[in-house]
Amino acid sequence: ATTGSVRRTSDARPLVSQADLAPSRHFVDGGYVDSTSGRVLDVVDPCSEQVLCRTPDGTAEDVDRAVAAAVAAKASWARRVPKDRSDVLHAVADRVQEHADLLARLESANTGKPLAVSHDDIAGTIDTFRFMAGAVRAGTSMAADDYLDDHLSVIRREPVGVVGVVTPWNYPLMMAAWKIAPILAAGNTCVLKPSEQTPVTTLKFAELVADLIPPGVLNVVTGRGDVVGARLSSHPDVDLVALTGSVSSGRAVARAAAEGLKRVHLELGGKAPVVIFEDADLALAASTLRTAAFWNSGQECGAACRVLVHESVADRFVDLLVREAATLTAGEPTVDGVEIGPVVSRAHFDRVRGYLERAQRDGARAVLGGGALEGPGYYIAPTVLVDVPEGAEIAREEVFGPVVTVETFRDEDEAIRRANDVPYGLSASVWTDDARRSHDLPARLDAGTVWVNSHLALANEVPWGGFKGSGYGRDLSIYALDDYSRTKHVMHHHARS
Ligand code: NAD
Repeated sequence: ATTGSVRRTSDARPLVSQADLAPSRHFVDGGYVDSTSGRVLDVVDPCSEQVLCRTPDGTAEDVDRAVAAAVAAKASWARRVPKDRSDVLHAVADRVQEHADLLARLESANTGKPLAVSHDDIAGTIDTFRFMAGAVRAGTSMAADDYLDDHLSVIRREPVGVVGVVTPWNYPLMMAAWKIAPILAAGNTCVLKPSEQTPVTTLKFAELVADLIPPGVLNVVTGRGDVVGARLSSHPDVDLVALTGSVSSGRAVARAAAEGLKRVHLELGGKAPVVIFEDADLALAASTLRTAAFWNSGQECGAACRVLVHESVADRFVDLLVREAATLTAGEPTVDGVEIGPVVSRAHFDRVRGYLERAQRDGARAVLGGGALEGPGYYIAPTVLVDVPEGAEIAREEVFGPVVTVETFRDEDEAIRRANDVPYGLSASVWTDDARRSHDLPARLDAGTVWVNSHLALANEVPWGGFKGSGYGRDLSIYALDDYSRTKHVMHHHARS
């Protein structure tokens, strides 16, 4: 174990009680149903390694039942005018707000996140519903007009239909909201499968808003990706599948969806380069990375995990970064001052440790952290690795833990070439005080989001999504509304007077 300790609470009260949890059943057509499998999956608290609850191990038949409910609900939900759907989404936001404390505790109990981080997720969730509630009323279509003589063109933005949604474990409720809000705002119905590891807040959300959303418009089926997710991806009555998850899951979804030529929306992994030039404000870069690299224990697709710094300032920057990151405290969600929780599961813990062991065996040197902290709990020490050989696994693959690698470059072209030389293209940042660089370089980076002198700043008004192996489609902003809509042109012929 790496030096550093895990701060644990002395409070004997659990973060949540069994009474706080939603029924451990699928939420379908506005009510609860059991799985046809009769089997359950354990949901584990990553701080204590104890089972928190059990949820249904869903089946293809369970998906079929939920999709049937979503199909039945589709026409009347689609017919509602934007203001009606907007009112529902505002009511949902209000309900989440009322129960923000409970939802944050449930999120922390399931993921081990510090409570403050869970509160941030819930605040983001509320704002997503409010933004989409407003945006759908503004619309994004082109104006009706006469584009041909004697013909009036009208562009209709219509819902796609039934959307299958598959979400990951890193921001369980917030990722669900990023899908549900625009999907429902645009007039679609949906069947959502949360991650089997973190279904708790999504199930609670469904329970809390059950009286606000018409039956069948939102359905939740729990279970495994290769069963429930796979059936959603291939179901003939699902019109679009949206996944936030890993590249391999994205491939599986796209492959299954190809048969029926259904639309696919993929938010996959990332390996964000952080390109720091010699003219940058190094102290600002280091203090920003304290959050941008280690937030949510680095289990963040946009995490600032791969530093490329000009060789002339590398030592100074590493020194500043290590000083910043060394002040992060790991521990349980309710302990004051804790900023780093465990990683989500035993399997992920082993995966991150494997990456760290191989990296250090292959020559990388940990100047901070480097391995696990003492259990119980799946805690990894905040880690900074230097002397990382070019092309090393740790600098190419998504580690999804509190780990930053630092590499150096000699000139601009080398920096850009290496920044782009990974299969991912989700986000990147450029650090410079030079005006030309701050204009030119974002255009040369293959990433869906590029920050200049910042990293991980995000708002509901701006689109989020990737290029290359990070997938396609955009979450948030009016672009998400477009992604969950279909465009129809209606042309009226009219004789001139
Ligand atoms: P994962 O791919 O293992 O799981 C994501 C979801 O996909 C889960 O619900 C899982 O059950 C399901 N799934 C697995 N196999 C499937 C299949 N064959 N068909 C359909 N669904 C399937 O990912 P994870 O480990 O839960 O989450 C971490 C990953 O998510 C990381 O790669 C991360 O970068 C990515 N992520 C991306 C964004 C983004 O906005 N781009 C945001 C958060 C997380």
